[in-house]
Amino acid sequence: MKTILITGASRGIGAATALLAAERGFAVAVNYNKSREDAEKVVEIIKQKGGLAKTFQADVSKEEEIVRLFGEVDAKLGNLTSLINNAGILEQQSRLENLTLQRLQRIFEANTFSAFLCCREAIKRMSPKYGGNGGTIVNVSSIASRTGAPFEYIDYAASKVAVDTLTIGLAKELADDGIRVNAVRPAFIHTDIHADGGEPNRIERIKETIPLKRGGLASEVAEAVLWLASEQSSYSTGIFIDVTGGR
Ligand code: NAP
Repeated sequence: MKTILITGASRGIGAATALLAAERGFAVAVNYNKSREDAEKVVEIIKQKGGLAKTFQADVSKEEEIVRLFGEVDAKLGNLTSLINNAGILEQQSRLENLTLQRLQRIFEANTFSAFLCCREAIKRMSPKYGGNGGTIVNVSSIASRTGAPFEYIDYAASKVAVDTLTIGLAKELADDGIRVNAVRPAFIHTDIHADGGEPNRIERIKETIPLKRGGLASEVAEAVLWLASEQSSYSTGIFIDVTGGR
């Protein structure tokens, strides 16, 4: 059975991806940091439908916790074939002149360094150089990497640009290892992340400027993620799927 590790899978896009991955036959490692009950609910739903999933607590902004996380996934599920770098944060909407170094560090540790370090650990499981059989990595970036997110969170946007560049470079670096690396860039998806930015109704404010005139569902992003994680996308590496309602 193939194993997929989804970081930040206790809610939102990560949780939707976990549910779909189980339906597609993956054993699912549901990572969370703080929301244990939510993560356990995701696993419970998967089990009720006959799937295999386990929760794994780890703060992926910390290197030692990432190393522990991958070790625990090896021990409890084994055979890691897909990594979804989904965990991500943003903070209170703000102009750049009010940003602190501490905030920049939190954002880049959670969104960017986590993706780099999780890729490193995944390579050590998937690459034939380390005894693996190849695999897939999907980075959940953001359309903010194209827009820059002015007046809201340029720090977050910049942290996602680095994830885009990671995707392009690593796809080429790992092509000979049988590991494909791709990214999904969502925008305006109905999750709790907008409340973390201080504007729970952000999508309502913006929706008339979106060509499809609505926000997206986490399940719609999950479809793109799972396509890139699966054999169906076997000739694609280093690509981006924008799930943005046309923006
Ligand atoms: P969300 O609802 O806020 O969920 C974030 C998830 O990440 C939670 O499960 C949270 O778990 C986890 N997480 C945060 N920090 C973590 C850490 N240090 N270690 C482990 N887990 C951590 O967010 P979402 O909207 O689903 O976003 C998922 C991804 O999509 C993010 O990378 C985000 O940047 C990206 N995205 C979202 C949108 C959108 O419109 N929603 C648009 C573009 C990109 P705990 O609660 O347990 O900490």
